[in-house]
Amino acid sequence: MKLIPSLLRSSGFLVFLATVLPLGLPLGLPLGLPLGLPLGLMPKALGQSDPAKNNDAPRLIEVRFRASELEPIIGELVVQNAKYGLLLLNEDGELITIPAAPKGTSKSSDSSTEPSKEPDTSILGIHSIVELEGPMKPTAPKELAEKSLALMPQGAKFIVTEHFVVCYDTTDVYARWNANLYERMYKGMIRFWKEKGIELEPPRFPMVALIFSHQDDYVEYSKRDFRGGENTFGYYTQTTNRLATFDLTGIEGMLPPGALVQREELITEIFSRPQAERQVATILHEACHQIAFNTGLQRRLGDYPFWLSEGIATFFESPDFNSSSGWGGTGKINYFNLSNLRQYARIRPADSMMKLLVQDDLLRRGETSTAAYAESWGLTYFLIKRKPKNFVEYLKLLRERLPGNPADAKQRLDDFRSCFGEDLDKLDKEFVRFVGTLR
Ligand SMILES: [Zn+2]
Repeated sequence: MKLIPSLLRSSGFLVFLATVLPLGLPLGLPLGLPLGLPLGLMPKALGQSDPAKNNDAPRLIEVRFRASELEPIIGELVVQNAKYGLLLLNEDGELITIPAAPKGTSKSSDSSTEPSKEPDTSILGIHSIVELEGPMKPTAPKELAEKSLALMPQGAKFIVTEHFVVCYDTTDVYARWNANLYERMYKGMIRFWKEKGIELEPPRFPMVALIFSHQDDYVEYSKRDFRGGENTFGYYTQTTNRLATFDLTGIEGMLPPGALVQREELITEIFSRPQAERQVATILHEACHQIAFNTGLQRRLGDYPFWLSEGIATFFESPDFNSSSGWGGTGKINYFNLSNLRQYARIRPADSMMKLLVQDDLLRRGETSTAAYAESWGLTYFLIKRKPKNFVEYLKLLRERLPGNPADAKQRLDDFRSCFGEDLDKLDKEFVRFVGTLR
């Protein structure tokens, strides 16, 4: 995997937006969830420079740096802004931010607020930007797998499935079991959204999952993306587009210390135990995020309220062990979150939904995240079950927004109201009644 030059890494502008499932820790424990930093990039009409070119086609560019030790970066220009920098999509499917020059160092005097027509070479450290002939060709699965192995401990192997590249140093059978689950999830989601009126696209890049045998190696890897990896079972990052997790069969004493699963039946048996429900849910949850952001259900680094992204993932995360693969379908009640929601209902303030719609913080902060995740699941479940057309309309509306254009609280509420109706109190009452009927 091409490493991002250290200048960019240390700039503080490198954006990640990991989604992490809290482990169901008691209320009040800090989870160390990563903050999604605002990109601050303005959308730009792409392909404007040459009218002969297809205006919808993204521009493929090579960015060269002044410092000769920095490797050039080649990628499609997603968005750019003279003030904040460039966002590129590379051939491995990674989103790379190249930060803007510090204030006052830009050569152009008054372009700081206007999206400029051309990539700005005054951006910190950039020597030149060269237009390349497109379209960009995504890295082939096997090649991407080999690159991704560099992120794993020595001796790691990979499996290529229809839509995924799974790199692992676990047993073959554990990696295969996970890969099968991802593919089942993929097919399930495609079918589900098709029935709801959204035709998802096949992923443009192979979806990479890293499965570490040892939790320590996983935590070490996670440090590149966020702090607090030891409190998580897995996560997906929109910038790298990778999912990372570790062998979950050994935790909670489900296997003798040091033992590794060698049989598929044993994995299914271990994960069927009630105490493993959250572990399997994590695998499904993170795969759901990855699939949603790779099939066009959501736009990577788009502006999504957290409750919505997390609501969708929790909607799909409930395992079903009547099915041999551990996941039998969609739309089942998530009893973990339902139970948390019922507990929360006793103290739930009247403006709870309104706050959830606009305050992403509620899902990130340890003291509020359990209730906020539960309510996000409940609200999503309610809207998908009772207002599916409006929900699809809402997803499509947000899908149109380019990265780096965050909506403020008013815009968030306007978006929501434009799809689900003006009267949020009425909707909230309906929601609460609906939750009361769930068994
Ligand atoms: Zn999540």
